[in-house]
Amino acid sequence: MKNLFILLFFASIQLGQSQTNVSTPTFIHAGHLLDSENGKWQDEVTIKINGKRITEVRQGYQPIPQDVKYFDLKDHWVMPGFTDMHVHMETEYNPHAYIQKYVDDPADIAYDSVQYAETTLMCGFTTVRDLGGSGINISLRDAINKGKVPGPRIFTAGKSIATTGGHADPTNGGNKIMMGDPGPREGVANGTDEAREAVRHRYKNGADCIKITATGGVLSVAKNGSNPQFTIEEIEAITSTAADYGFHVAAHAHGDEGMRRAVEGGVTTIEHGTYMSESTMDLMIKKNCYLVPTITAGKEVALKAEEEGFYPEIVVPKAKAVGPQIQGTFARAYKRGVPIVFGTDAGVFAHGKNAKEFGYMVEAGMPVMEALQSATITPAKILKMEEQLGQVKPGFFADIVAVTENPEKNVAILERVDFVMKEGQRYK
Ligand SMILES: [Zn+2]
Repeated sequence: MKNLFILLFFASIQLGQSQTNVSTPTFIHAGHLLDSENGKWQDEVTIKINGKRITEVRQGYQPIPQDVKYFDLKDHWVMPGFTDMHVHMETEYNPHAYIQKYVDDPADIAYDSVQYAETTLMCGFTTVRDLGGSGINISLRDAINKGKVPGPRIFTAGKSIATTGGHADPTNGGNKIMMGDPGPREGVANGTDEAREAVRHRYKNGADCIKITATGGVLSVAKNGSNPQFTIEEIEAITSTAADYGFHVAAHAHGDEGMRRAVEGGVTTIEHGTYMSESTMDLMIKKNCYLVPTITAGKEVALKAEEEGFYPEIVVPKAKAVGPQIQGTFARAYKRGVPIVFGTDAGVFAHGKNAKEFGYMVEAGMPVMEALQSATITPAKILKMEEQLGQVKPGFFADIVAVTENPEKNVAILERVDFVMKEGQRYK
């Protein structure tokens, strides 16, 4: 009898809690609210949230009813949660990264990724696009969506697709017996048939988009960091198959020829874009293909290359050559009118530093307001979430962040976000 009483008692507490979470509305008074659609600030706004979504946004500080949750952000600059279109949630580079793939079990990677996800959310990034891991990034996405662990909403490519020996061939420089000889299932494809098969494997595994490594890359154990690594036919096979499954395609590219083929072949975003020629910039404008700058990665990689032993010897000259180029290319591409969407390559450097990219973009000539739009409204369009993400508007997910200074006067304040809400739940 006593046990039954205790059981009922706890059951009623739990019921009470869940009822509060579902039905209690949340109100926010925002001193300055970013209108990301029109690129301006609205002063003195009341935001009402019910469950996961914003239900009302009204001018002026409306009176707050009894028995609701309330956040006073009257002296804050309030914005939609940011989106980073290029992260790697499974990893964070360190001098042991190349050995870790032989040592770490999938469970080890999973525990690490949970930490990186929380760090990312806490720095104001409520949505990310994960551009390549082992596939644990797919399980991480699901765990976050189910509320098992805190983290940003993830759109993931699962495993990147490369050609043999290409930038995302997971066996480059590895022990042949231990690493085997990967094929389309593992994201290594040669020829149009395998290219299509590789896309279908990503679909089968539950990816949201496709990532290809159109040229060599800096951190792979291979000599060339910028050569073309797919034929145009292979790229077209990938983009057309991806379209069948509703995927867009992101292409890692440093060298101009591989980049040109990727843009010509119909990818949606070019990652890094390091040695982009003016004619490729014009092609991107014509095809409405977005550059994902990853300036932070370029800076951090060049810095780490100076540290003895941080990278394998074969990587060092590539890091020193490619890293410092990226910001200059971004500046030229922006000036010429290439569409830009925010992305950092976090994971190549420490997670949580994502907002540094804002400062680097501004340093290269982009106004703060446009940089903010590139991390809110623009990614929402590419992810086909423009009715749900990237704005603080009725019907949208209640993904809201805030800082204590005007970012247009001090862009570095974006590195110190002090309020984070995702889907109506306050995390910071
Ligand atoms: Zn990357």
